[in-house]
Amino acid sequence: MTSPSLVWFRDDLRITDNPALHAATDAGPTLALYVLDEESPGVRPLGGAARWWLHHALVALREELDRIGVPLVLRRGAAAAVVPAVAAEAGAGGLFWNRRYGGGERRADAAVKQIARSSGLRAESHQASLLHEPWELTTRQGGPYKVFTPFWKELSSHDFRHPLPAPQRQRVPEKAPWGDSLEQWGLLPRDPDWSVPLAEAWTPGPRAAGEFLEEFTDSVLSGYSEDRERPGQAGTSRLSPYLRWGHLSPFEVWHAIGRRRHEAPGGSAAFASELGWREFAWHQLYHHPDLATVNLRREFDAYPWWSKGDGGGQAALLRRWQRGRTGLPLVDAGQRELWATGWMHNRVRMVSASLLVKNLGIDWRLGEQWFWDTLVDADAASNPFNWQWAAGCGADASPFFRIFNPLTQEKTHDPDGTYTRRWIPELGTPDYPEACVDLKESREAALEAFRSLPRNRVSIGRS
Ligand SMILES: Cc1cc2nc3c(=O)[nH]c(=O)nc-3n(C[C@H](O)[C@H](O)[C@H](O)COP(=O)(O)OP(=O)(O)OC[C@H]3O[C@@H](n4cnc5c(N)ncnc54)[C@H](O)[C@@H]3O)c2cc1C
Repeated sequence: MTSPSLVWFRDDLRITDNPALHAATDAGPTLALYVLDEESPGVRPLGGAARWWLHHALVALREELDRIGVPLVLRRGAAAAVVPAVAAEAGAGGLFWNRRYGGGERRADAAVKQIARSSGLRAESHQASLLHEPWELTTRQGGPYKVFTPFWKELSSHDFRHPLPAPQRQRVPEKAPWGDSLEQWGLLPRDPDWSVPLAEAWTPGPRAAGEFLEEFTDSVLSGYSEDRERPGQAGTSRLSPYLRWGHLSPFEVWHAIGRRRHEAPGGSAAFASELGWREFAWHQLYHHPDLATVNLRREFDAYPWWSKGDGGGQAALLRRWQRGRTGLPLVDAGQRELWATGWMHNRVRMVSASLLVKNLGIDWRLGEQWFWDTLVDADAASNPFNWQWAAGCGADASPFFRIFNPLTQEKTHDPDGTYTRRWIPELGTPDYPEACVDLKESREAALEAFRSLPRNRVSIGRS
């Protein structure tokens, strides 16, 4: 009997452009494994919307894998215990995966690699989820990049490999280890089931991802540079959850856009640089594993943000913000879009985050956690990175004094009210609340708090 290969799937839930799957199937009959790991230290448990997405993504992945003769095994537990155990049960000859870049994930992967190799197993990792390896791209001084423009200039000057096709159908391995049933994991919400509008908005899985990408390159890309700032229009790709879950690889997206660069030069360049921000966020997370909890600019540790436990009226303001009842229509529309669909337009994310941290004086980490729980694209790097950017304490962040005025932003980006009216049916009626904060006064208070920070402690990172 030939020893099968084992591919450990993580944030790469696809069969095309999957180098680990390719290497495994090249070696012979292959089994696939997905581990729901809520136990390894430093691995962040998924939020509610992400759990919903994962359930459907695994159903879709299983279908795809069945087509190529690769059974999918589901297990729950700490990766360092589960993965070697499944490899042993399967009598696997090799273990393959695509690399992850978060701190807890890297520690878990290193532990698995060590255990596998010490038991004589071939253990191999591949690059699939980022266009760059964060340790390979360094400044001239040899350190990590802290500023986006030079980072992207350097990275985008490289040629990126072309995507791999799906592997050919395999001979199915003779036996597979036992696995959990997906239903046992309870990833779907019950009592109440709030997922109906999510399911109307999204179809998780690689097939839908491909359709989104095609629709975007055919119909939206040419107007992307201008339309991307209009939340009332379908002017962006909405590919973020598909990239987050790896239903598409960044190499596939990069080359699909590249093929259109002559027809849509402006849109292609603008879109490519958005992919660059995704890379930059992961670059930061790799070098600052505590990005979701620690201000990159440590002088912000002294900023008097309100955080839970302090009591006061901010708890009620936080709730109003979460529920889309601040009385500021652009922010409320965004928060309601988020609650209903698990996604929010980028412009509105920026304005909503700015209101929370600058006008309402609430700690960015509370906003980050809310997004983490409610976004279908909740990403361990992009979410904290952008929150730190919006709060002014992050890498290459929005300058603190740039405090978005949600009313002016609404006039500029949703001039005919298409977006706000879509999400706030009671707009303009007595049922819609007054603004929960005086924008001018709160702006002045934020600037005053900022001016009082100890400037001489400015540095990025811990050292
Ligand atoms: C406070 C805040 C929190 C955010 N949290 C997340 C998150 O958890 N997950 C996430 O994927 N994005 C996050 N973003 C970035 C951005 O808002 C979304 O990636 C974008 O809105 C997704 O829509 P799209 O796919 O239509 O974007 P497009 O405009 O079509 O952009 C294409 C792709 O580029 C990437 N991208 C675009 N903008 C950014 C950015 N600023 N940072 C990193 N990558 C970017 C995404 O992968 C996106 O799918 C956040 C932004 C803010 C301001």
